Amino acid sequence: MKAAFALLGYPLSHSFSKQYFTEKFLRENIDAHYQNLAIPELSDVRIQCHQIKNLQGFNVTIPHKTDILKYLDAITPEAEKIGAVNTVKVAGNKWTGYNTDVWGFERALLEFTGANLPKSALILGTGGAALAVKFVLEKLKIDYFSVSRTPSKIHEISYADVSPEVLAANRLIIQTTPLGMYPDLMGLPQLPYFALTQEHLLFDLVYNPDTTRFMQMGLDHGAKVCNGLKMLIYQAEAAWNIWNSPDAVQS
Ligand code: NAP
Repeated sequence: MKAAFALLGYPLSHSFSKQYFTEKFLRENIDAHYQNLAIPELSDVRIQCHQIKNLQGFNVTIPHKTDILKYLDAITPEAEKIGAVNTVKVAGNKWTGYNTDVWGFERALLEFTGANLPKSALILGTGGAALAVKFVLEKLKIDYFSVSRTPSKIHEISYADVSPEVLAANRLIIQTTPLGMYPDLMGLPQLPYFALTQEHLLFDLVYNPDTTRFMQMGLDHGAKVCNGLKMLIYQAEAAWNIWNSPDAVQS
């Protein structure tokens, strides 16, 4: 029987995953299909998923990445630490949760920086995506400050605190806010961009458009830039590997 996969979220009008996996199945001649499962709340998620014949796994997106934890039978240590799951493997009645954003970000970041890993970074934004970014920076032993509109925790600073000296001291800047994402093409975090140099590395998690305004500001000052597309592809491929491994992959 054809294997089934799905994306769970709400709303799902602009989802990358359905297009990515549908094209992959066609290209690689894989006998499977991928569907969107747009549900606003999760109370009967098990029943709804049970109705999809031969469901082997699903991706989870906004707003369910945290709430899905309550419905899982097992979770990897990293997904548990982050408190968010974006991939679920279904094996009979057993649901296991993973966070492949972490793997996608780590691989894309290391390709971007090469061997010359910066010692410290700024992370713009403190939402769900930033949690995965922080996990990876801690793993790679890169110190960081989070930049927030409302700093309230240790290691959080405001945009006004980001002086040219702070930029000079942190040559990796990771943009995890939705600013600049289509259709908000003019969106831009408020930073003293004039202080950027050729030594700076700007990683934007936004993948549409290809070059965000944040990235363009970096390019204008000689910095190296990267968008979120590779992270997105790598997290999807990591999900595919999990769904196809006979044993649950452990981190
Ligand atoms: P989110 O939780 O809605 O927002 C992230 C954070 O951005 C918020 O917590 C907030 O932090 C800050 N923020 C929100 N609106 C802002 C504004 N108008 N001005 C300044 N800061 C603002 O979103 P998310 O789920 O973390 O995703 C963030 C972005 O990453 C999205 O564009 C998403 O598409 C992208 N993403 C990409 C990938 C990938 O694979 N490439 C994976 C996940 C997410 P403060 O309140 O602390 O300022």
